[in-house]
Amino acid sequence: MIPYDFAYFKASTAEEAVELYQSLREQGKQPVYYAGGTEIITLGRMKEVYTEAVIDIKGITECQTLQLEQNQLVMGAALPLTKLQEANLFPLLSQTISEIADHTARNKITLGGNLCGNIYYREAVLPLLIADTDVVIAGKSGRRRIPLNSIFDERPCLEDGELLTQLITQSDYLGLPYYSVKKRRQWDVGYPLITVTALKKEGKIRVSFSGVCLFPFRSERIEECLNDTRLNPDDRIERAIQHLPKPISNDVEGSPEYRLFVLKNTLLDVLQALEGETYAHN
Ligand SMILES: Cc1cc2nc3c(=O)[nH]c(=O)nc-3n(C[C@H](O)[C@H](O)[C@H](O)COP(=O)(O)OP(=O)(O)OC[C@H]3O[C@@H](n4cnc5c(N)ncnc54)[C@H](O)[C@@H]3O)c2cc1C
Repeated sequence: MIPYDFAYFKASTAEEAVELYQSLREQGKQPVYYAGGTEIITLGRMKEVYTEAVIDIKGITECQTLQLEQNQLVMGAALPLTKLQEANLFPLLSQTISEIADHTARNKITLGGNLCGNIYYREAVLPLLIADTDVVIAGKSGRRRIPLNSIFDERPCLEDGELLTQLITQSDYLGLPYYSVKKRRQWDVGYPLITVTALKKEGKIRVSFSGVCLFPFRSERIEECLNDTRLNPDDRIERAIQHLPKPISNDVEGSPEYRLFVLKNTLLDVLQALEGETYAHN
């Protein structure tokens, strides 16, 4: 049970949701957008999330869109992960989200919720960062479509009350060669020790990470090192990991040293999968 009372509102358009948010704010309330509700309920029970009003966004048509149109895949932010996974229009995204939580939770957890929530793994963002995905954001001054990479700094940097409505990926990214792996210390379900996603575009490998640090990231410098084919794979990986953001996570899943060990082996698997050669693990 959630140990505090809150009001429930349901918006039918993004504009209505944003206006409701602003007016609740002006009344001194603390509203939150309610997508799958899994985090609000789970963290609300522990009083780690507090709200006085939730604005349900699941009835907003554009937030439920899932279609390929004009050479782009449009994904509504309120789509449950299982719907995206089953449609399998973007295989790298489908594979990555199939490892998030368990099937029952994925029926509720939404794409936008995974990106915008408080739990920092945000594994669904990894394929979107390396596929140059755009985001559509509704706010009090209107609507904007911008590259996800331009507003992603550890998390999507939204202004107070802004609503993520859609994610749009150009269709030429959807069928590129890819690799995605989630490594856990134990069990088949749970948060990652590390998750790595990669794809190859125009002969260059792009890669993004979750679990390595306290936020997901993509790094051009890491990609430059991994793509420097003048060097052997081990040297490329050694150089690449010099550019990891710091600090490396240290938690029940693993120490920084263990994470780095697993990461190096995983990067070798990435190179092997996307360069089509066999590289030995040291
Ligand atoms: C049991 C469980 C297991 C999990 N396992 C994993 C895992 O393995 N990997 C992983 O990466 N994550 C995992 N998570 C984290 C999960 O993806 C996030 O908690 C996510 O926020 C839940 O999505 P939701 O749609 O239920 O969000 P909600 O609970 O509806 O909302 C969470 C927050 O996001 C905001 N928000 C939601 N949608 C939008 C939007 N469109 N625009 C702006 N703000 C928005 C809300 O206002 C709220 O503050 C897990 C969570 C749970 C509860």
